Amino acid sequence: MNEQVLEKIKQAGVVGAGGAGFPTHVKLKCTPDTVIANCAECEPIIKSDKYLMEHNAEAIVDGMKAALECTGAKKGVLAVKYKNKKAVEELQKAIEGEEDVSLHLLDNYYPAGDEQQIIYEVTGRVVPVGEIPIKVGCVVLNAQTLFHISEAMQGNAVTSRMVTVAGAVKEPMTVQVPIGMPVSSLLELAGGITVPDYAVILGGPLMGRVAENTGKEYVTKTTNGVIVLPLDHPLVVKKTEDFNYQLKIAKSACCQCNYCTLICPRSNLGLGVQPHKIMQALTLNNADILADGQAALGCCNCGLCTYVGCNMGLAPSRFIGAVRQGLLAKKVKSHQEPKAVNQFRNESRVPSGRVILRMGLSPYDTGTRYIDSIQTPKNVRILLKQHIGAPCIPIVKEGDKVKKGQCIGQIPEDALGASVHAAIKGKVTAVTAEYIEITRGNYR
Ligand code: SF4
Ligand code: SF4
Repeated sequence: MNEQVLEKIKQAGVVGAGGAGFPTHVKLKCTPDTVIANCAECEPIIKSDKYLMEHNAEAIVDGMKAALECTGAKKGVLAVKYKNKKAVEELQKAIEGEEDVSLHLLDNYYPAGDEQQIIYEVTGRVVPVGEIPIKVGCVVLNAQTLFHISEAMQGNAVTSRMVTVAGAVKEPMTVQVPIGMPVSSLLELAGGITVPDYAVILGGPLMGRVAENTGKEYVTKTTNGVIVLPLDHPLVVKKTEDFNYQLKIAKSACCQCNYCTLICPRSNLGLGVQPHKIMQALTLNNADILADGQAALGCCNCGLCTYVGCNMGLAPSRFIGAVRQGLLAKKVKSHQEPKAVNQFRNESRVPSGRVILRMGLSPYDTGTRYIDSIQTPKNVRILLKQHIGAPCIPIVKEGDKVKKGQCIGQIPEDALGASVHAAIKGKVTAVTAEYIEITRGNYR
């Protein structure tokens, strides 16, 4: 392990930009044989990694080389969908002459970017439920994370990221924005919202969350998308409908056709996920059917069973998600070894186009304009917790003048976390338990 590289990544506050924000300097404290770049970007409409690859392929490859140096892994693989032709071309150019780094072309299916799927596609290995990729000798890093690692090698902290703003907005765009930018300002930048009643999804349409109050949302290191949909769009309804109401309907309507399990990508990898079993247990009010909970623990919350699988319009992913959370809270562990991968796994994969059609997203899948920089926003709010672990401790106070890239929040001693930095130059105008606000200014 190269401690110097790790320290630079830690100082820059790099976290997993494509998922829950696990601190990268902790993730890389291991000795894998393969580092995989997750460049799959499988959520519909989101194009942030696509443009990043098209315009910053060399930096992504530099990030990969730093990750290889850091961990001592012998092989770096950039896994990218073949359909992103320009990105493939740019990455291909960027790896020319690199003996340890190669490309792996993925088919266009959902969820190709699920860590489990991508590891299987690249190496043929399956991570047992409850374990992490290093168990099978792999580390997976998102394309944006690799870009941030390459910046960290040059002493630059994480102060911006690529975000797609799309859906019911006037000018859908993918844009490089400062961390902490108000989501409301991003929506204005995209020309405003085109429907009267709407919901804003932060992240991808399938796995993202519906914002409760858009006025109180800010771009974090993990915000890859801001998607606006009409309030009565089926996807929004599925995500926000009363849980108990959905449960009541499910109890009377689930016909145990099993299609949710047949389509489940984790089930097809032999990980024992069985959403129809969860539905059966709920319908019959019989927890014994779940036995030890193994039918739920391997779920990755991709939503495929709900949005594409169930012809009765039910939401098995919501129920299996709730059961899984309950099991994790009770610290129930998986004890199952993966079974054989379904020999028809390839045929069972769901093409992304079908997901878009089934979810009624075709009108919004129109592509987005790429913008590489914007005028600095008037203010930003840097959340103290935008990663897995403990919130940062502020090291600035109201009235302090800060430079872009200056560390303003540190990891508490001996805690898991990632530091945060000023995304713009200006004056600290608020420090609370949740955020540090910086107002733009040309202070010396
Ligand atoms: S939840 Fe839907 S897909 Fe799954 S078993 Fe019930 S009816 Fe079939
Ligand atoms: S959300 Fe549904 S389809 Fe996706 S992994 Fe979980 S059970 Fe399987």
